Amino acid sequence: MRRPAILLAIIFIRIFIIRRVIGITLFGTLLGTAAWAQTSAPHTSLPDVYLITIDTLRADHVGCYGYKQVETPALDALAADGVRFTQAFTHSPITNTSHITIMTGLLPSVHGVTDFGVPLSPQHVTAAELLKKHGYQTAAFIGAVILDSNTLAPGLDRGFDFYDNFPAKTETKERWDRVERRGMEVVEHAEAWFDKHRTGPHFVWVHLFDPHDPYEPPPPFSEKYKDHLYDGEIAYADSAVAHWIAFLKKAGVYDNAIIVVTGDHGEGLGEHGEETHGLFLYDSTLHIPLILKASGAAHHGTVVDAEVRTTDILPTILSATGIAAPAELNGESLLPLIDAQAPANRALFGETDYPLRWGWAPLRALRTDNAKLIEAPRPELYDLQADPKELKNLYALDSSNSKVQSMQVEMAKWKAKLPPQSASAKLGENLPDPKDKVEVQNLLHNAMLASDDNRSSDARQFLEKALQLDPASPTALRQLGELELAAGDFAKAAAHLKRARELRPDDSTAAFEWGEAAEKSGDWPGARDALESSLKLAPSQMSARLLLGHVYLQLKDAKNAEDQFEAALLVDSNNSDGRLGLAEAQIQQSDFAGALPDLEAFTKSDPHNALALRLLARAYRGLGREQDAERTEGQAAALERK
Ligand SMILES: [Zn+2]
Repeated sequence: MRRPAILLAIIFIRIFIIRRVIGITLFGTLLGTAAWAQTSAPHTSLPDVYLITIDTLRADHVGCYGYKQVETPALDALAADGVRFTQAFTHSPITNTSHITIMTGLLPSVHGVTDFGVPLSPQHVTAAELLKKHGYQTAAFIGAVILDSNTLAPGLDRGFDFYDNFPAKTETKERWDRVERRGMEVVEHAEAWFDKHRTGPHFVWVHLFDPHDPYEPPPPFSEKYKDHLYDGEIAYADSAVAHWIAFLKKAGVYDNAIIVVTGDHGEGLGEHGEETHGLFLYDSTLHIPLILKASGAAHHGTVVDAEVRTTDILPTILSATGIAAPAELNGESLLPLIDAQAPANRALFGETDYPLRWGWAPLRALRTDNAKLIEAPRPELYDLQADPKELKNLYALDSSNSKVQSMQVEMAKWKAKLPPQSASAKLGENLPDPKDKVEVQNLLHNAMLASDDNRSSDARQFLEKALQLDPASPTALRQLGELELAAGDFAKAAAHLKRARELRPDDSTAAFEWGEAAEKSGDWPGARDALESSLKLAPSQMSARLLLGHVYLQLKDAKNAEDQFEAALLVDSNNSDGRLGLAEAQIQQSDFAGALPDLEAFTKSDPHNALALRLLARAYRGLGREQDAERTEGQAAALERK
């Protein structure tokens, strides 16, 4: 799921400039809710809604947030036309989970999409569904395959008339158009769609993946930002935003539109040892920009310093369009906050289950009243006013102090909102603290990038280093096993995968791959055991079932082979491999008459399959039909010569 890369691991020294913008905060409040209300009256005047999510965007790397090393004129102009929230936070540091939260207004544990590939349950309604019901034309344009609704983000497309997935098959080894689209291409797709769907109201979501690593902006950004390529990606993404906004202005829909721009999460950039994102709940990956341009001339240049969250985005869109919000939402509209004389902070409940992927403890955090409590095997407490970079953990210093206790009470209130079976229940008592594993995770991440980019010797080096640090890492063992499997060193692959499977007994894929490696290295009994165990965990795996059938044939255990092929054919009665495997198992048991009818049917419909002809010849010979056998063998030999 990582983009391939020629990536230099560049860790930037973050230049952190906090600019308190106080004076103009209250300016917009004088305009009041009336400005928003104009938009919600008659159905026909519903404003267009444009959502722009920029992946991996730290708030403190955007021009209008005070960062001087980057040019983001499009975002700055939107902020000048609308409301900029200086203290906006995401609930989740990973892409799918965070986007589902934006689209549903629900906490990660509530919507349940806490990892890639987890389908969004139909019980949770999405922004697109709600707007579509009110006559909106809806479309989504994504920049990365990790948000593809056919594979890694099932359900995220719900309510969209058009969802711009990636092609199911592509020949290219390049990552462009296979796993990632450049921002400008995403925007061009959106503009082409818009041209064919002129009648509003519109709800269009544009996702720009560019700032996600590896950092490879196109020229001229690659040159201009060559010493800080992450910023170059941000500047490039901003140029795509500029293109989209110019298009909307030209189409005459900008002024009356509601436009929301935000990030799905930030980027570690080496803070707390984290190069990318997902593992931790520090502000480096939770603090994101949030800009909201209202319909009409309301709230120009307003700045809100109250703490707000990505769950507040959907309720805000609904209240600005006058559409009723579902009862279960975890956030609240931001409109009263913009209008309030003294905006109140909203507590952020942060979650990451991403560490569970590697067998490490998931984390929960509460960020409120300038303090953050992080629940981990070694808990953390930070005073964000005195220590905004979260470097001084106060928890151990005084765990009986009233701050820890009051934060824990607040945290318990949030947890009470979660479904009982949610991940907080499995908060690992015995799992390692991610703080102790960040180096291993960086190596595993780099290995994934390298192997996506076909740099297998780099990948091997990263994985071997990870295994030195953590010899019992099932992920490192599995990835190294997969690497050796692809490289053709089957015995080595089998050893790594066997060990991965022992460490993670419920990993059906590791068990299957161990079976594959054992089969390829000619270890039939080993392959049998591995595949049996994989199928016990996940019985519907067709390829494991077929491979096990062939292993039984090698072991001359024709009865068991027959059972496996028959089970496979129950799922797919026309599967060629299953049909020929079954025939071979019957022939091994001298059941020539049993094998004959399907082999004749098979070779009739597919006369160019030499293997099928060979089996048919054996069946004829077993039945004493020597002439038929010789004729059929002749046909097979002719095909094999070709
Ligand atoms: Zn992301």
